[in-house]
Amino acid sequence: MSPKSQNPCDRQPETDTAYDAVIVGAGFAGMYMLHCLRTLGLSARVFEAGGDVGGTWYWNRYPGARCDIESMQYSYSFSDEIDQEWSWSERYSPQPEILAYANHVADRFNLRRDITFDTCVTDATFDESAKRWTVETDRGDTVTAQFCIMAVGCLSAANMPPFEGIDDFDGPVYHTGQWPQDGVDFSGLRVGVIGTGSSAIQSIPIIAQQAASLTVFQRTASYTVPAWNAKMDPAYEQSIKADYPEFRAKARARPTGFYFPFNMKPALDATPEERNAKYEEFWARGGLPFLGAFGDLLFEKDANDTVAKFARDKIRGIVKDPAVADLLCPDNVFGCKRLCVDTGYYETFNQPHVTLVDVSKNPIERFTNKGVVTDGTEYELDAVVCATGFAAMTGSFDRIRITGRNGLTLAEKWRAGPRTYLGLSTAGFPNLFMITGPGSPSVLANMIPSIEQHVDWMMDCIAHMRDVGAATIEPETAYEDNWVEHVNEVSKVSLRSTCSSWYVGANIPGHPRVFMPYIGGFPIYVNRCNDVLANGFEGFTLDGAVETNAPPKVRWTERWCAELDLEVITPAMIAAGRVPVV
Ligand code: FAD
Ligand code: NAP
Repeated sequence: MSPKSQNPCDRQPETDTAYDAVIVGAGFAGMYMLHCLRTLGLSARVFEAGGDVGGTWYWNRYPGARCDIESMQYSYSFSDEIDQEWSWSERYSPQPEILAYANHVADRFNLRRDITFDTCVTDATFDESAKRWTVETDRGDTVTAQFCIMAVGCLSAANMPPFEGIDDFDGPVYHTGQWPQDGVDFSGLRVGVIGTGSSAIQSIPIIAQQAASLTVFQRTASYTVPAWNAKMDPAYEQSIKADYPEFRAKARARPTGFYFPFNMKPALDATPEERNAKYEEFWARGGLPFLGAFGDLLFEKDANDTVAKFARDKIRGIVKDPAVADLLCPDNVFGCKRLCVDTGYYETFNQPHVTLVDVSKNPIERFTNKGVVTDGTEYELDAVVCATGFAAMTGSFDRIRITGRNGLTLAEKWRAGPRTYLGLSTAGFPNLFMITGPGSPSVLANMIPSIEQHVDWMMDCIAHMRDVGAATIEPETAYEDNWVEHVNEVSKVSLRSTCSSWYVGANIPGHPRVFMPYIGGFPIYVNRCNDVLANGFEGFTLDGAVETNAPPKVRWTERWCAELDLEVITPAMIAAGRVPVV
């Protein structure tokens, strides 16, 4: 059943319905949460701003959008049937296929009947006397629920810089994260792309194939490694499917929650020849696993300098015009900003109709009706693509007025940076859960296992609350403070904390500079969550429990008893915070 057949304006707003839970967002997080809550016999309503399920993969339909974690690993693991019945056609899945997978899951579990689409949650307010959340939407819905679950996504609030004169431009302006549902045909057009992050790097080679001319406005050059994407090898697929649970467990034991060969030796211990050979070997594998060439690349600046030089040499070997090659060579830490993965990106700049414009020193001044002006030059364009990223991690929270105890809003509480306990919840906001919230591994890990582990933890928590008759759960401030400090301390050991990336909120003017995801390693984090649960929700206050001493049952989280992969995570590394998260 497709919700597109419904006209959202025709439906009557829902008022006064009382649910066990309201979920905001119907990406992979909201979908799995809904499925689990149903299993427990709870009622739930999902509100989703988009017109269908899929989240990221519903919105980001720009040309070339695809996954940069291998298809066999970027999928749900909770259902063996889905694992077996679904087939991926490529090593790295394209956006339409991931969206088809999300639709398949929604159909399989009949999820849509509890999802209200085209509806944006505007307010969530905790009623202290009723101990319930009131959730309001832009379509006039007002419902209440015991639990409010934010499945709003880490990369879902598009960042559209307020370019002067943008409304005067005669042509269309697109954002990669809000791409038109029916696609865009750039044939014969003069196209401008603003930005050179992952989205731009994926779309530029394909837009260049269509456009009459392409002008790329680059503020900061990015490092990108070739994907070497290929058709799925059926023998490989079969070998994984023969024992998928074993493969998933291997991946979960890795710092980033996905599996790939990792060489733990330090780059600085190798001779220049050995280093180069290793870089070539890992370059030939391609993608994010390139960062696994040596164990110290994200910890030692001298080691990082060697890989940065290797990457710059690659760029100079591909791009024919030395001046363009120079511009494309980043001068910052390799892998400090999210590493990009491409297909033919640098080669695109050898084409005569592609121009690279440096806006690092002279920013884009304004739009005119004809195009874009920078450094006193007007670039005439028919269409502009803003590949300008997202207000990451906190952006979608900021766009909802979330009010907790004593009238405190989440925006006020997080003014100096997000504060959570384990990225799951925040003091002063009882029964408000966040799936992959700031302070959890989230964007530094394979996101689907990160989502599933959070949801499973929440399910054991909610089931326990029912067992003991607790009305609310909320972190204690002291535990939250310790966690925030730990997240911050661990980040300082990594070179990743040193640059102006969206990990630290630096891409949004005025955003406090705080390292937001937890960089201590996925299985270490999982074990911490498990310990908290096993210790009777240590650091949380459960209010109204009748059977206070009942030990929590481990049902959903059982599958997350992560073994650490001792080849890449040793106790010494954990103690030093040097777990290699690529
Ligand atoms: P999302 O998919 O972002 O879904 C959140 C949903 O919440 C959205 O549909 C949004 O409309 C809705 N929402 C938000 N606010 C409201 C509101 N107020 N009211 C109603 N609805 C609301 N991760 C990886 O691990 N590997 C990858 O290769 C990878 N590639 C990516 C490529 C792109 C282009 C992007 C942008 C991200 C990528 N990610 C990748 C991260 C990706 O976001 C996650 O993998 C995953 O899809 C997140 O699922 P989610 O459900 O948590 O959030
Ligand atoms: P991004 O990495 O934040 O890149 C945004 C780009 O826009 C940057 O080059 C930025 O320059 C530029 N920019 C922003 N404002 C600008 C301005 N006012 N003027 C000029 N340039 C401006 O965003 P993204 O490319 O959408 O990627 C975000 C994240 O989504 C990725 O890091 C990744 O996690 C995920 N993603 C993954 C894939 C994948 O391969 N699977 C694909 C797309 C996205 P500065 O660097 O100077 O700020």
